[in-house]
Amino acid sequence: MKIAIIGAGIAGLSCAETLQLQGHAVALFDKGRGAGGRMATRRATTAYGDVAFDHGAQYFTARDPAFAEMVRAWETADVVTAWPSAGANAWVGTPGMNAVVRAMARHLPVRWNAPVDAIRRIGHSWALDPVSEALFDAVIVATPAEQAAPLLIAHDPAMAAMAQSCPSAPCWTAMVAFDQRIALDADIVRDSGILSWAARNSAKPGRGGVEAWVLQATPQWSREHLEDDAGFVVPALLSALADAATAQLPEPIVRIGHRWRYARATVTQHGALWNAATCIGAVGDWLLAPRVESAWRSGRILAERIIAHT
Ligand code: FAD
Repeated sequence: MKIAIIGAGIAGLSCAETLQLQGHAVALFDKGRGAGGRMATRRATTAYGDVAFDHGAQYFTARDPAFAEMVRAWETADVVTAWPSAGANAWVGTPGMNAVVRAMARHLPVRWNAPVDAIRRIGHSWALDPVSEALFDAVIVATPAEQAAPLLIAHDPAMAAMAQSCPSAPCWTAMVAFDQRIALDADIVRDSGILSWAARNSAKPGRGGVEAWVLQATPQWSREHLEDDAGFVVPALLSALADAATAQLPEPIVRIGHRWRYARATVTQHGALWNAATCIGAVGDWLLAPRVESAWRSGRILAERIIAHT
C-alpha cells in the first residue's frame, strides 16, 4: 500500500520503519524544520562555543522487550547511551536527544516543513492538503492528540472523539547556560518549588562544554502561566533553580524559553487506532503512556496490525 504518515516523531517513524520493511511505500510529512518532535534538541551559540539543550524528553526507559532490543541496536550504532544519573534504565540520544529520530528518519522519505492542514477523501484514496498532490491508500495521523482530532474529525468522528478525550499537560521550559559551573553538586533536581525537573544538560553523557541547564516547570504552574511571556517565565524558573542551589546564580549567557502546549498526554489504552474499512489510523503516546517508549510501541502496534491484515 501507499501509506501517508502525518507526523515524524518517534511514533510515526517507528510505524513507518516497520511498514517499509514489509514492502509498503510510506511517505512522512512533518511540520517541523527537522527531526525531533518532542525528543527535541536546540542549539545556541555563545562566546565560549556552541551549546545544546534537550528541551523536550529528558531521557527514556526501555522496559518493553522489543523496544529494549531496538535500544541495544541504537547503542551499538552510537545513537544512544545510558545516563546512570537519571536511573538504572535511563537512556539518552547522543550527542543530543534528537539523534534517535534523526537516525530513524535517515532511512525514510520524510518531508520537513510540511504542515498538513486537512485530509481529503477522493474515491477510495486519501489526499493531504496542502502538502502533496499524491493519492494514498491509507493515512496515519501520528501527532499529539490535540493536533490529531481536527484532522480526523471529518473522516472518523469516533477516533477524533477519543483524541479529544486525551488532553495533554503543558510544560514551560527554560534553557539556560552560564560561563561557570553553578554551585549545585547534583546534576538533576526533581520536584523543587515550581520546578518538576532540572538537569545539567552539559553533564549528560556525550555532551560537555559550557554549563547548560534545562529547567521544566510543573504542569500546574505551566497551565497557570501558559499565556505568559518567556520574559516572565525564564526568570521565574531561574529563581527556582537558585532556591534549589541555595545560592545566587551567575548571570546566564543563554536564556531561552519554550512553551510546550502538548507535553505529556493523558492517555487511553488502545495502543493504536485503525479503521480497516477506510484505512485511516492514529498512533502516538496518547494511545499508551506519555513516554518515548510508549510512542515507539504505538507506532509498531499499528504497523503490525496493518501488516497482519494486508
Ligand atoms: P511527537 O514527538 O510530538 O511527534 C509528533 C510530530 O507531529 C511532531 O514532529 C510535529 O511536528 C508533527 N505534527 C503535528 N501536527 C502536524 C501537522 N498538522 N502536520 C504535520 N506534522 C505535524 N518521555 C519520556 O519517556 N521521558 C521523559 O523524560 C520525557 N520528558 C518529557 C518532557 C517534555 C517537556 C516533553 C514535551 C515530553 C516529554 N516526554 C518524555 C514525552 C515524550 O517526548 C513523548 O511521549 C514522545 O516523544 C511522543 O512521541 P510522538 O511521536 O507520539 O509525538
